[in-house]
Amino acid sequence: MLSLTIKEVSLALREGSISPTELCRKCLNRIKKTQYLNAYITKTEELALKQAQEAETRLLHGAPKGPLDGIPFAVKDNFCTENIKTTCASRMLKDYTPPYNATVVQKLLDQGAVLIGKTNMDEFAMGAGSTDGAFGPVRNPWSYASPYREQTAAPDSDWVIAGGSSGGSAAAVASLTSYLALGSDTGGSTRNPGALCGVVALKPTYGLLSRHGLIPLVNSMDVPGIMTRSVSDAAIVLDVLQGFDLRDSTTIPAPPSLTELPEDFDASNICVGIPKEYHAPGLSEETLAQWNRVADMFERAGAKVQQVSLPHTQYSIVCYHVLCHTEVASNMARFDGLQYGHRSIVDSSTDAMYASTRHEGFNDVVRGRILSGNYFLLKENYQHYFVKAQKVRRLIADDFKHVFSSGVDVLLTPSTLTDAACYSDFTQEDNRTRSAQEDVFTQPVNMAGLPAVSVPTALSRRGLPIGLQLIGPTFQDKKLLSVAQWIEQRVGFPSFSDHRDSNESSCDIEMTKREQTSAV
Ligand code: GLN
Repeated sequence: MLSLTIKEVSLALREGSISPTELCRKCLNRIKKTQYLNAYITKTEELALKQAQEAETRLLHGAPKGPLDGIPFAVKDNFCTENIKTTCASRMLKDYTPPYNATVVQKLLDQGAVLIGKTNMDEFAMGAGSTDGAFGPVRNPWSYASPYREQTAAPDSDWVIAGGSSGGSAAAVASLTSYLALGSDTGGSTRNPGALCGVVALKPTYGLLSRHGLIPLVNSMDVPGIMTRSVSDAAIVLDVLQGFDLRDSTTIPAPPSLTELPEDFDASNICVGIPKEYHAPGLSEETLAQWNRVADMFERAGAKVQQVSLPHTQYSIVCYHVLCHTEVASNMARFDGLQYGHRSIVDSSTDAMYASTRHEGFNDVVRGRILSGNYFLLKENYQHYFVKAQKVRRLIADDFKHVFSSGVDVLLTPSTLTDAACYSDFTQEDNRTRSAQEDVFTQPVNMAGLPAVSVPTALSRRGLPIGLQLIGPTFQDKKLLSVAQWIEQRVGFPSFSDHRDSNESSCDIEMTKREQTSAV
């Protein structure tokens, strides 16, 4: 039951072969059994059971609220949830309880979906590994699944990262504790962990989903992301979440409903672009092989596959970091010890209180970005960094426009450079650079506000998932998902349930000393 898709489980609920409360209990039990993944920061058992009971009454009366009625879901801990802690995996907000729900959370609840918990992440969504949060790192469920175990004979200490920053959400969906999860995506934070954990991860067009209640990282690039076990499930959730919100002035009215993707999408009519610049240094042979394999599939199906150029891609990461850090410097100013969250006991002066609050509350990644962001914003630096980066951003977006207006329907690229790294390798001395490089294929999409989706395509020799990314023109999310489903139907990605994790009955895997140092 736990490994079904939303489509399948919703049918089972309506037919009465399982009740929402039974389903909810199964998910909550599985969360307990997979505690060692550290995917959840807060579990909302009581509330979930109450919501499931309400769904049960509705279903018994044949009056479901919508396609998600009674279906358990998880939410990244940077979306506000009414009366439920929302920490952003930071000491700064570790006891923060918002008085309202983010619009996307409210929309899921309005459909009768059952909130089972808030998921772990990198602090304030800054990172690409889910190794930089105040509650310890997230472990990739595939670290404990049989292909990885058999092929690496890995000791318990040699587990792999879940990707980030929405690693908890990806691990929650992959490890069968939740049928869908919300992530956020500013530079790849939904697609990266989605690819590394083997789940479908959609970053919708900027403006299609409301950001109200999503604690901001880079306001001009943040979007709520959707993680599911199948492409058609992502379409169902997108349909529920999209649309104008009075509280987010960047949203637009919802395009026509897209719940049902065509089962028999005709790929012979499309033109697939392969950006030559995405043959980036560090791209693994296996990921490249998957990329070529799927491009060949399109060719054999009669699609036009052509090489294209996105010449400004190479500037995307550095340009992103200038823009991100400046927005971070401004966004984080609200955490001053007065309005929200942590307040230091140092009270010799207001300035001293601000300084020690922020020193105690933020990790060094966040503090580093605030520092450099304020430097880029200094009067004498503003033109040289911020304004220049904005101009480069325009060039990056224009590259995509140019390609799409030349007749290309979708771009096919890898989602990440390699399969998931071992925790010990990823957290070496220079992991900031590594973390930044991880976004090379995903970040340019956020610069341009385009929709993109990562689809799992195969397991690597290490038994770990590899994902490919499709990118489309703005507001072509539906078409993008149709193409993604076409891939999904052909690649034969193995189901996680066939390779259940070998530790699920023993919850006693201890965090190592090193992991504990980052945990509160
Ligand atoms: N890895 C990028 C960063 O650290 C993007 C994060 C995200 O998409 N939230 O800023």
